[in-house]
Amino acid sequence: MATPDRHSDHCIGNFIGGEIVQPPADAQLLDNIEPATGQVYGKLVDSSDGDLQAAVAAAEAALPHWRGLDPEERARYLERIAALIEDNLDALAEAESRDNGKPLALARSVDIPRAAANFRFFARAITQFASESHAMGERAINYTLRAPLGIVGCISPWNLPLYLFTWKIAPALAAGNCVIAKPSEVTPKTASMLAEICQKAGLPAGVLNILHGRGSGIGSALVAHPKIAAISFTGGTATGARIAAEAAPRFKKLSLELGGKNPTLVFADCDWEKTLDGVLRAAFANQGQICLCGSRIYVESSIYKDFKAALLQRVAKLRVGDPLTQVDQGALISAAHMEKVLNAITQAKEEGGQILCGGERLQVEGRCRNGYFVAPTLIEGLPIDCRTNQQEIFGPVATIQPFADEEEALQLANGTGYGLATSVWSQNLSRCHRLAGQLDFGIVWINCWMQRDLRTPFGGMKNSGVGREGGWEALRFFTEAKNVCIDYA
Ligand code: NAD
Repeated sequence: MATPDRHSDHCIGNFIGGEIVQPPADAQLLDNIEPATGQVYGKLVDSSDGDLQAAVAAAEAALPHWRGLDPEERARYLERIAALIEDNLDALAEAESRDNGKPLALARSVDIPRAAANFRFFARAITQFASESHAMGERAINYTLRAPLGIVGCISPWNLPLYLFTWKIAPALAAGNCVIAKPSEVTPKTASMLAEICQKAGLPAGVLNILHGRGSGIGSALVAHPKIAAISFTGGTATGARIAAEAAPRFKKLSLELGGKNPTLVFADCDWEKTLDGVLRAAFANQGQICLCGSRIYVESSIYKDFKAALLQRVAKLRVGDPLTQVDQGALISAAHMEKVLNAITQAKEEGGQILCGGERLQVEGRCRNGYFVAPTLIEGLPIDCRTNQQEIFGPVATIQPFADEEEALQLANGTGYGLATSVWSQNLSRCHRLAGQLDFGIVWINCWMQRDLRTPFGGMKNSGVGREGGWEALRFFTEAKNVCIDYA
């Protein structure tokens, strides 16, 4: 395959002031690698400080008009973007699958429809967003203005590229902010297609600007820029800590959606088939690369042996291979990430874990022979305090372990530094409700996993983040509350 150069269609440029900017001759470029083949199949610009200044200037110029629009008018732009995403479903899904390694069917049924839903949801939400008033008897009235923050930064990860990118951009724009957004440097493609869609939708120039490049370069510069009022970040916990350290002394508003080490609790009275399906999906969907994945499976001891056997049968049926074909699991995002996951498996063995299935890199034939595939892996026999059960692996790797009773299940579930999501599988609803109150997680799913209603608060406790996304929470984050008090006297 010919190596793409900066002038070819494969070189991804920034979106600044409504224009897609081809990188100048002296720009730094990064490789874009297809995880399923291990081949470089494109280039992207690694943005400079000059690009950031240009994006800030474009956003500043666009802000007075955008923030001054009636919410209905802003909503119409967002609706148009949603419709264009839907019109381009096939192209976007294929691009997402190639860029990320995820099964095409998953990109088609989840990632891209959700990106459209994000724009449509916040288009509608902003037309219903209201602020409060507080009357002080006959004496005075207070009312709250909810003004956009100005220029905001949105930084997203590679695991659900367009899905999470738009989950931040849509509420920020709906609320009247101008946005400078940075997708992950390892999955830039659908963000670059979103730029074209925004042009087609007639979004005014400078309202959304997209800068590509490394987190330690342009990402960090974005966080530090004095004219950027807020940062909405989704990514790893260590990165979140770095961003918080940079943003806090500048008093920026921060939303941090970080990592997870999520427990799945299976009780003897669960609905057997539904639970097996749910536990399997929670552990291995998207190659286990979803922050919400249930990577610690705890099963009540009376059913442990049978449940484990049935789960292993289902894992054995997972089809792993070329993501552009009919598979359940595609490739991991990069060679470095695959090594990290394989090292975590080696560490699990050193800690005394028994590998029940998987445990190694998978060789796939044909065009994917150099791809980054790891067999779905289940590990047994590890205590809660070992590194395997404490650290996020973010791959197709889960541990499984029995528990004696509800109290032990709770202790195990709450026994890590993370607090993003958990799922509980039992038909005893009073037990489920009791546990929901005691589990230290931002999201508790009962007899389901990753069932999302965009109106609900989304986010984690403990090391899994600060703040909530979704519904009014997102619109409140992207606006500044100002109280006005009028004395009648
Ligand atoms: P990452 O933290 O390495 O990168 C995320 C984004 O931040 C990328 O765009 C990256 O370029 C940028 N970045 C990196 N360093 C930066 C810096 N110093 N300043 C500014 N930006 C910087 O994460 P990743 O590897 O892309 O994604 C995987 C992680 O994301 C996992 O830990 C996963 O759990 C987490 N995640 C969390 C959620 C959630 O909603 N809580 C959702 C998805 C993924």
